[in-house]
Amino acid sequence: MKNEYDLVVVGGGPCGSTVSTLVAMQGHRVLLLEKEEFPRYQIGESLLPATVHGICRLLGVTEELEKAAFMIKRGGTFRWGANPEPWTFSFSISPKFSGGSSTAYQVERMKFDQILLDNARRKGVEVREQCSVLDVLTDADDRVTGVRYVDAHGVQQEVSSAYVVDASGNNSRLQTKVGKRHYSEYFRNLALFGYFTGGKRLAPPNQGNILAAAFDSGWFWYIPLTDDLTSVGVVVLPEALEKVQGDREKALLGLIEECPLIAEYLADARRVRTGPYGEIRVRKDYSYIQDRFWRPGMMLVGDAACFIDPVFSSGVHLATYSGLLAARSINTALRGDTDEAVCFDEFEARYRREYANFHDFLVAFYDMHDNEDSYFWKAKKVTNNVATELESFVELVGGGASREDALVAPESYVEKKAPAFRELAGLVEQPVLVEGEDRDLLQSELVKSVVKTGSRIQIQAAMGENADEHLPVREGGLVPSTDGMHWSLPSRHLAER
Ligand code: FAD
Repeated sequence: MKNEYDLVVVGGGPCGSTVSTLVAMQGHRVLLLEKEEFPRYQIGESLLPATVHGICRLLGVTEELEKAAFMIKRGGTFRWGANPEPWTFSFSISPKFSGGSSTAYQVERMKFDQILLDNARRKGVEVREQCSVLDVLTDADDRVTGVRYVDAHGVQQEVSSAYVVDASGNNSRLQTKVGKRHYSEYFRNLALFGYFTGGKRLAPPNQGNILAAAFDSGWFWYIPLTDDLTSVGVVVLPEALEKVQGDREKALLGLIEECPLIAEYLADARRVRTGPYGEIRVRKDYSYIQDRFWRPGMMLVGDAACFIDPVFSSGVHLATYSGLLAARSINTALRGDTDEAVCFDEFEARYRREYANFHDFLVAFYDMHDNEDSYFWKAKKVTNNVATELESFVELVGGGASREDALVAPESYVEKKAPAFRELAGLVEQPVLVEGEDRDLLQSELVKSVVKTGSRIQIQAAMGENADEHLPVREGGLVPSTDGMHWSLPSRHLAER
């Protein structure tokens, strides 16, 4: 039986929006099922340059993000380790984030996630909100062939697809269908967080930086979301957990008093008590990794696969980067010339590698007896970087450790490819996606073939045949294709054929 879709994505967070958009932009039929009605609250507000200037540019939302006027983040300011004084780093220190790509945003996730989801719709993804996925469908060979879900009217539905991607976040109910989740022995912390107005700002030009302040019971994040609104959260160490029993507000205010720097910044501030920012929330057990990231017909991406302690704001970066890796694998498998297992292994190897960079670095970073210079040295060691120690640190915490041109060097990658991506996006967007007939037109073989041929010609004209060749990251591995949206064999292997 023919599948109804090429891909069904579960979850409309940044990861689900990324993978669905990048697959739909290749002319494939994509359905995204989201449990909530957007906008919905989510934590994870401090972004990295690799997300803003890499993935978001690939998705085509750069101008919309600029219009949203999110707070500009130039780097981070830390009261951390043996140094009693706060120290600051700027993304611009790393040549990888040169020119216009040396900043990121602090975002209200209700707005940011809505922008990405609306963009997915515009790029041809069929998005159905208030649809909660219950389970996967499988065939006689135990291959995943679709999902069962409850629709917005409470009716159970089934949908078939060539591939299913679980991007349903840390509370994924589907991750057990792929493997087992292992919680970190090391990061067994708990976060308690709320919102304040009227908090102090760092001196210009660092007023948009994330401020992180360690103290005896853990560490605080202080994220300026607007000139007035600040996201404030405390990550509490296991030995101090008794301080967050009982009343949450009392616990949060008590911990603020224990941390002189944050107490000073909030001295004239008021806690928000109404609306989506009025609640004081708790998250625990938030560092884990699955033992497998895929099985035939299905992948786990973003937080559904793994998550690491938030001190370097890596969550949305890992979610969107894994979305790009997964999209490449699915696009390549759907093209039919490379085995699914080879493509999916490439996705898993690269996603694990990026996760491990943050994990291994963070283990060293939590040693409060060291100073920043030894943290920078550790970043260089973990990522095996030839750059200076400080540059290696900034490259890692900016999301550039994978050394993917798509994430770190817009001049040499995205800027050159932008016309090709714009043309491609235009071709996909042109049919008006209102009626079912238009969708049929978009999905017709003719239109798909025009999209594919058009994009190939444009990209080759702009880039040259092998403009973007990378070395594989492991023996026998694949490399990003010229268009960045598929996997290829490294040129050495092609020459041997
Ligand atoms: P999500 O954003 O969780 O999206 C998953 C979506 O799936 C949701 O919309 C959900 O409604 C939907 N869904 C769930 N179940 C179903 C279902 N059964 N059917 C259909 N849909 C479903 N990251 C940063 O980058 N910067 C930070 O500063 C930062 N701070 C953090 C602080 C804390 C305390 C924590 C815990 C995390 C933080 N993060 C941060 C991490 C960030 O929140 C996540 O990594 C990021 O949201 C992951 O994106 P995602 O798309 O994988 O999942």
